[in-house]
Amino acid sequence: MPDYVGNWLECRNRNCGFPIRVPCPALVWKGQRGDEDRAAAFLFACPVCLHVNPYTQNDLREVRFRSRDPYQAGRLVLYSVRFGCARPRCPTELAVLTVAAVNVSLAMMLGFWEGWRAKFKCTSGHTFRIPAPEVWWIQEEKALGFNEPS
Ligand SMILES: [Zn+2]
Ligand SMILES: [Zn+2]
Repeated sequence: MPDYVGNWLECRNRNCGFPIRVPCPALVWKGQRGDEDRAAAFLFACPVCLHVNPYTQNDLREVRFRSRDPYQAGRLVLYSVRFGCARPRCPTELAVLTVAAVNVSLAMMLGFWEGWRAKFKCTSGHTFRIPAPEVWWIQEEKALGFNEPS
């Protein structure tokens, strides 16, 4: 039986702990893409408990899977959702990554994503407040973030 190297990202919510399969490779080398606002640390929204938490590449656990990478196979899509904090005068802007099946409509995904709960702080120290979906910028991504070149 062939196996396929991939990564689990385990949800940080202790009451959830859902293992999320993430794209392989999980990170791409800097310089391959021009987007500098994402580092090796990233925010990820758990599709089960809907908590948005910060993660780093140290949270990724390498596993040998029996099945092909579902992102490469076109069954799962990694999305980034960009928005600013909803609190007046807060300068924090960020991107949240999450996963969805390809056959789920945008309307249905937004229905879930509206239930996201921010579990991290703004640059100004308060708990990040997620704005209404009308101002979200959604796009597909290939990887969770960037590695520093070694
Ligand atoms: Zn979770
Ligand atoms: Zn804020």
